[in-house]
Amino acid sequence: MIEITGVTKYYGKFPVLKNCSTSVAKGEVVVVCGPSGSGKSTLIKCVNALEPIQEGSIRVDGVEVNDPQTNLPELRSLVGMVFQNFELFPHLTIENNIMLAQRIVLNRNQQIARTRTMELLERVGMSGHAHKYPGQLSGGQQQRVAIARALAMNPKAMLFDEPTSALDPEMISEVLDVMTSLASEGMTMMVVTHEMGFARRVATRMVFIDQGEIVEDRPTEEFFTARHNPRTEAFLGKIL
Ligand code: ADP
Ligand code: MG
Repeated sequence: MIEITGVTKYYGKFPVLKNCSTSVAKGEVVVVCGPSGSGKSTLIKCVNALEPIQEGSIRVDGVEVNDPQTNLPELRSLVGMVFQNFELFPHLTIENNIMLAQRIVLNRNQQIARTRTMELLERVGMSGHAHKYPGQLSGGQQQRVAIARALAMNPKAMLFDEPTSALDPEMISEVLDVMTSLASEGMTMMVVTHEMGFARRVATRMVFIDQGEIVEDRPTEEFFTARHNPRTEAFLGKIL
């Protein structure tokens, strides 16, 4: 579903991603971890073309992301993205947050978009909040709405960039529970997170990135049990 091959990216002269290759097969959940500043956010932003790459190739469901011919709104509806800080539209109700792109990008009529919205709010445990504004919800509730909004586009894959890092501890599990159930329904997911308990339970593969290089890319159980190179050991030693 997602194929990243030999990707190099610079910010100015600074190489932020160095010859990175990995992939996410249909139905797989790949967790990306690594120190702060190692390039995790950049890597997943490149997948839905929020950042351009200078070398290599990224394909999503066969579509070359960096081909100038690629229709970016269409690509971004294929891959939903959830950010650390939710990024809901503050001036729109929850319902309208979820309806907006369905109306504009997918041309769904009001009634179909509303029905889909209500289904998704139910699925993330947020029905009953449709007419509130984001500022009236807790962080965990806002993040569940953000997940519903991404799902409204019927994406083939979902990207998550530290979806629980901005949350108070008691709200982390309500978001991870939604992500766990999505994974168990077969959603293809690429997740940047430091939640290693979640990773161990849900991920099929673990990618460890350090200073722009993919240092490890292994099946989850092996990642947590095998001897690693010193960079991975140092990182895991700090967070486990
Ligand atoms: P992570 O998500 O792993 O913390 P990022 O992908 O955000 O790392 O950043 C990787 C590196 O690229 C860092 O050194 C960061 O300072 C730098 N960086 C990130 N975004 C930009 C940008 N828009 N312009 C210049 N440098 C950036
Ligand atoms: Mg980041």
